[in-house]
Amino acid sequence: MSALTLELDNSFIRELPGDDDDRNVPRHVRGACWSNVSPTPVAGPELVAHAAEVAALIGLTDEDCLSAEFAAVFAGNDLAPGMVPTAACYGGHQFGHWAGQLGDGRAISLGEVVNATGERWELQLKGAGRTPYSRMGDGRAVLRSSIREFLCSEAMHHLGVPTTRALSLVTTGDEVIRDMLYDGNPRPEPGAIVCRVSPSFLRFGSYEIFAARDEHGLLRSLADYTLRTHFPHLLDGRDGAPGADTYVAWLREVARTTAEMIVHWMRVGFVHGVMNTDNMSILGLTIDYGPYGWLDDFDPGWTPNTTDAEGRRYAYGKQPGIALWNLVRFAQAIVPLIGDPSPLEDALGVYGATFEAGHRRMMNDKLGLAEPRDDDDELVDELMRLLVRAETDMTIFYRRLAEVPTAEGVAGAERIAPLLDAYYAAGPTEEVRAALVAWVDRWAARARSEGRPDAARRAAMNAVNPKFVLRNCLAQLAIDDAENGDPTRVRKLLDIMRRPYDEQPEEEAVYAAKRPDWARNRPGCSMLSCSS
Ligand code: AMP
Ligand code: MG
Repeated sequence: MSALTLELDNSFIRELPGDDDDRNVPRHVRGACWSNVSPTPVAGPELVAHAAEVAALIGLTDEDCLSAEFAAVFAGNDLAPGMVPTAACYGGHQFGHWAGQLGDGRAISLGEVVNATGERWELQLKGAGRTPYSRMGDGRAVLRSSIREFLCSEAMHHLGVPTTRALSLVTTGDEVIRDMLYDGNPRPEPGAIVCRVSPSFLRFGSYEIFAARDEHGLLRSLADYTLRTHFPHLLDGRDGAPGADTYVAWLREVARTTAEMIVHWMRVGFVHGVMNTDNMSILGLTIDYGPYGWLDDFDPGWTPNTTDAEGRRYAYGKQPGIALWNLVRFAQAIVPLIGDPSPLEDALGVYGATFEAGHRRMMNDKLGLAEPRDDDDELVDELMRLLVRAETDMTIFYRRLAEVPTAEGVAGAERIAPLLDAYYAAGPTEEVRAALVAWVDRWAARARSEGRPDAARRAAMNAVNPKFVLRNCLAQLAIDDAENGDPTRVRKLLDIMRRPYDEQPEEEAVYAAKRPDWARNRPGCSMLSCSS
């Protein structure tokens, strides 16, 4: 037993039925929300990086994180007192089709910490070995995908996007075989384990599996546990007993938080890549960082996931619609709790209303417009058409827009000068340049009409338009170094991404630059698969 001290209170396994079969072999698990499973030990745990602020959430210091026990526990070689390792059962719709039982195939929960302020934080290892839900998989994860999950979880948090967090990244000393592009070229890669941290890892698919199996008792137990533990305000004045209206209120809240999350994704240019219902958090958090990506040039049809290259179901611009599709699956799953689907259909309307209003406000914020006006939609639509006419870096464009002078009588060329850096290749053609001047003139007049000084508007814009995002090529640079044994850049990126809205001029040249040419078609940058 390790000497790490954590205040654990494992409500999920205490309050919900577990699997009474303890064989760690792939199988259908019935009548249970979780299975006991031991992490499979690894050869040589070594800490690559940790997030001190996440450690603080669970009461650990830097010194704790740098200890040998920490690496042993968060590589799955040891357990801290009170930890009970388990894997959860869930299902999901993948790429539009019901996929049956999925479950934690390579994630193992260690327990739930309740911290000094009463927050509940579940700790979960990803890549710690096989579980009853592993199907054909090996239960492991490679270093490249683990770096991507570790860094992106934290980058998203610091960008203000609801997300699961990441405590630690350890290498295992073991090799894992992966065919990275699914093209018949398997090779050994370094193995790694991330410890993810979230109030809960429950997903839409956690409820869908019990609805699909007609295990309605279990569905109700899980729903009621979720309400008690994560939505207690919905039970106010009900003596802890949910009624039909409680489940409807729950759906409304899930619809609202999901819409808010998607608005954030659209704001920062994040593409999840695999929005299957097993990857949709019941808490409206971004979860399961796989073949995600960040828009470099603004292209609503872009997806980093080569597995989805044909249908582009999960492309950037489709995310708002897909989230609703997923919510409908969740709503269908909880119909058995209330019998009548119609109030749930009504509740789903919250999604569209929240998204529309939130998206409009978000775009106004990105454009530095404090007081919404009816014709702002037109200004935004016109910008969307403009941005796709030439390859335009989304992050740089909005950041630079804050530099554009709005005073009357400024010449077009001077007005658009700060924006030219956002263009790829040789810059905008004459035609695009003219369209840009026309749009920027219109925007400047609109901004002027609010009477806010440029400096004040710039500060407001810079608080919502990040300067630093975890571009695919940046994660790849960190991966290349780490695979060569140098973790410095992983830590450096974590550090830069802690302050994504700050200027950090010393980091600009590499970390706030346009995607370099080498990254345009490089696997890992523009092309990712689910192989991880
Ligand atoms: P994902 O596409 O990462 O959301 O994974 C879908 C399902 O596949 C989940 O149930 C995962 O736990 C499982 N899975 C993915 N990779 C592996 C692996 N290497 N070993 C076992 N299960 C896996
Ligand atoms: Mg998943």
